[in-house]
Amino acid sequence: MLKLVIALAAIGCTAICGAAAQDFPARPVSLMMPYAAGGPGDTITRTIGQGMSKVLGQQVVVENTAGAGGTIGTAKVAAAPPDGYSLLVMHFGHAANTALYRNLRYDAVKDFEPIGIVAESPMALVAKKDFPAENFADFVAFVKANRDKVTYGHAGIGSASHLCGLLFFSAIATTTTSIPYKGTAPALNDLMGGQFDFMCDQTLNVFQPFKAGMIKAFAVTTPERLKVLPELPTAAEAGLPGFAITVWFGMYAPRGTPQPVIDKLASALREALKDPDVRSRLASAGAEAVFSERATPEALRSFLAAEIDKWVPIIRKAGVSAD
Ligand code: ASP
Repeated sequence: MLKLVIALAAIGCTAICGAAAQDFPARPVSLMMPYAAGGPGDTITRTIGQGMSKVLGQQVVVENTAGAGGTIGTAKVAAAPPDGYSLLVMHFGHAANTALYRNLRYDAVKDFEPIGIVAESPMALVAKKDFPAENFADFVAFVKANRDKVTYGHAGIGSASHLCGLLFFSAIATTTTSIPYKGTAPALNDLMGGQFDFMCDQTLNVFQPFKAGMIKAFAVTTPERLKVLPELPTAAEAGLPGFAITVWFGMYAPRGTPQPVIDKLASALREALKDPDVRSRLASAGAEAVFSERATPEALRSFLAAEIDKWVPIIRKAGVSAD
C-alpha cells in the first residue's frame, strides 16, 4: 500500500511538476547574493542575472542578505519554497563554511540542488595607498615585522577574502588582527579611507581603485599573471611558491526543486554564460564566465564535493571556527 502511495505521488509530481516547469518562470526569479551590494559577488550575480533574464523572458532580481560569511543568506535560500523562484549564488565559501561554522542551519550538500558553476574570479593582495611597501617582498617583510600593528580586512569568516588571508598567513607563518565586514564593498571603502592596512580581494572589486591610484596592489593570486593586470606578479613568482587561490561561484536551488525547473534554469545559465556582454563584463576586471560544460548540475555537484574535501583539512589545520 505504502509503495502504491509513493508511486502515485511520483506520477502526480511528474505531471504537476512538468506543467509547472512549462510555465516557469511565471514571475520574477530571485538570486540571493549573501554579501553586501556593490561587491565582487554582487557584480557577478547581477551580470549573470541580466544574462539569464534575457533568456528566461522574466526579471531576475538580486537580493543581498549579508553577514556571517554568507551563511545568513544561504540559510534563507535553504528554507525557501523549492519552486525555482529563490536561488543562491555563492562562492567556494559554501564548501569551506561546512567546516568553519559549528551551528549551520543547513547542510551545504543535502539542502540544495546544484544548477551549475558560474564563474571564476582571481584575487589580488592590496593595501591602503600609503602602506609603506612598493613591491610584494617589502609588503611581506613589513607585515611580518609589524604583525602586532598591521590590520587585515575581510568579508567575514568563510568569505573568499578571509580564506585567502588564511592561506597567506599560513604561507608567511604570521597572523595579524583581522576586521570582518559584511562584504568587501564596505571593506574596500574603509581600505581606501585608510581605516585598515590590507586585504586579499577579487580583482572584480579592486581593479578600478588600483588603476585609479586609490589603493596599492602587490600581487595576484592566480598561477599565471592576468591579462588585465600584467604589471602585477603572481604571489607564487614573487616569493610564495605554491600560493594560489581562485574564487569560483556556483548557483543552487533549495532541495526538492523539481528537476524540469532545475533543467530549465541550468540551460538558461549556460545560454547566459555564452552571452558576449556577460563574458566581456566579467573579463574586463579579470573574472571569467565558465564554459558551458561546467555550468551543469553534475559538474557543480562533483566540484563542490571535491572542494569540501580540499577546504575541510585546511580549515582544521588553521584551527578557525565560528558559531
Ligand atoms: N564575495 C564577497 C563580496 O562580494 C567577498 C568575499 O567573499 O571575500 O563581498
